[in-house]
Amino acid sequence: MSASLVTVSYIGAIILFILSLGGLSNPESSRRGNLYGMIGMTIAVLATVFGPSVTMAGLPWIIGAMVVGGSIGLYAARKVQMTQMPELVALMHSLVGLAAMLVGFANYIDPMAVLNLSPAEKAIHEIEVYVGILIGAVTFAGSLIAFGKLAGKIGGKPLLLPGRHFMNLVGLLVVIAFGWQFMQAESVSAGMIALSVMTVIALLFGIHMVMAIGGADMPVVVSMLNSYSGWAAAATGFMLNNDLLIVVGALVGSSGAILSYIMCRAMNRNFISVIAGGFGSGAGKPASKADGETLPAGEVVSISAIETAELLRDAKSVIIVPGYGMAVAQAQHTVYEITKLLREKGINVRFGIHPVAGRMPGHMNVLLAEARVPYDIVMEMDELNADFPDTDVAIVIGANDIVNPAAQDDPGSPIAGMPVLEVWRAKTSIMMKRSMATGYAGVDNPLFYKENNRMLFGDAKKMLEEVLAALKS
Ligand code: NDP
Repeated sequence: MSASLVTVSYIGAIILFILSLGGLSNPESSRRGNLYGMIGMTIAVLATVFGPSVTMAGLPWIIGAMVVGGSIGLYAARKVQMTQMPELVALMHSLVGLAAMLVGFANYIDPMAVLNLSPAEKAIHEIEVYVGILIGAVTFAGSLIAFGKLAGKIGGKPLLLPGRHFMNLVGLLVVIAFGWQFMQAESVSAGMIALSVMTVIALLFGIHMVMAIGGADMPVVVSMLNSYSGWAAAATGFMLNNDLLIVVGALVGSSGAILSYIMCRAMNRNFISVIAGGFGSGAGKPASKADGETLPAGEVVSISAIETAELLRDAKSVIIVPGYGMAVAQAQHTVYEITKLLREKGINVRFGIHPVAGRMPGHMNVLLAEARVPYDIVMEMDELNADFPDTDVAIVIGANDIVNPAAQDDPGSPIAGMPVLEVWRAKTSIMMKRSMATGYAGVDNPLFYKENNRMLFGDAKKMLEEVLAALKS
């Protein structure tokens, strides 16, 4: 394939990637967006593999690696449960970081990479290598810790080392100092020492940064690492002189940064305070009184599936708030069966979606789209919050943090200030979950104890099937 054909193919792929990002911004066009992305990626891979920068001798290696990598990817994508998707994405981000690191080291020791370069070009090349490995190492280590936290292998409690901000600052200064030494190095082996020290510090920084972030702030970290992985890919593009990788990396990097900003706004948090870390505790604990902490006062009133069906049948307006538990139980199809039945009876049913519901951005929208819930009854939190006082029943399916009134009422709460869906303002709220356990942020929920709240204990799918059966009878 000639160089000009490769350039044309790259431009085509870039346009498709931009269309893909545009499509992914809306559930209705997201399938089309995915398709554009897949076509763009196929063109990009073919143009690169059959382009002039790959020699015939290198081709079998590349095809072999593609077969192995593609098979692992295919296996992982087929096997992964929807609830494990965020962990898989975090793991994929870590691979982008690892690739940037490896390409950086390979590029530095490859004498061909600096052949015929002027001193100024060589200096620029070395900056690319240093910065590329730095971003790659932070992304790699941070994403691995995020994977551990999302998979529940590492606790959600923030690790707050004494003097952690000071340690980060010292780390930054050491990285800058070794960067200077790296640029002055007379030989590759001297440069490798500076590179290796910086890599170790960057890895430790990545680990420390994500370990210090508490449960409730994880959505920002996930989107931030998404952004880092884009910049790591762009850095790889600079090292390999690949324009497509630079543009695609910048697209992913900037869209991830925008997503982080949206997530910060959704949680009413300042980006710097999230990175500084320290909010939220361990997840999934039963509500208990510890260390002088006061439990919310009041009585917990439970309700049966049959009583829930009666309340729903008598309602004129119902708002359904899905959360992570709906994803765990895979209850979305049953939710939609109930929705259809209620709508047939003339009841106004709408869904309230919190921006950080579930474990990844858009998690609930994906599940509801899979169950074919019409998009026009799926509303954002801001569109719906004012309607709760006129709602007869607000039914919360496996959600917890996103409906926690402590975010508004308790300034000392780890989630204080985070906007929430105000389900308690409905005439009756029904909370469907298995126990009194806390959600991801590890914060007790006073909603359980509100006078107009009822608890429907059990697995969401099982309970909803019972509600559906009662509605049909
Ligand atoms: P939460 O984690 O706050 O609560 C989910 C609830 O679902 C739990 O309390 C659990 O209670 C219940 N549950 C679990 N399994 C089932 C089941 N099979 N049937 C019924 N209930 C079940 O989820 P939310 O969606 O309310 O909030 C999201 C949280 O995740 C926020 O804290 C957010 O910051 C965080 N997060 C979000 C990310 C994102 O990008 N969206 C990324 C990372 C973190 P029980 O055990 O009693 O059943």
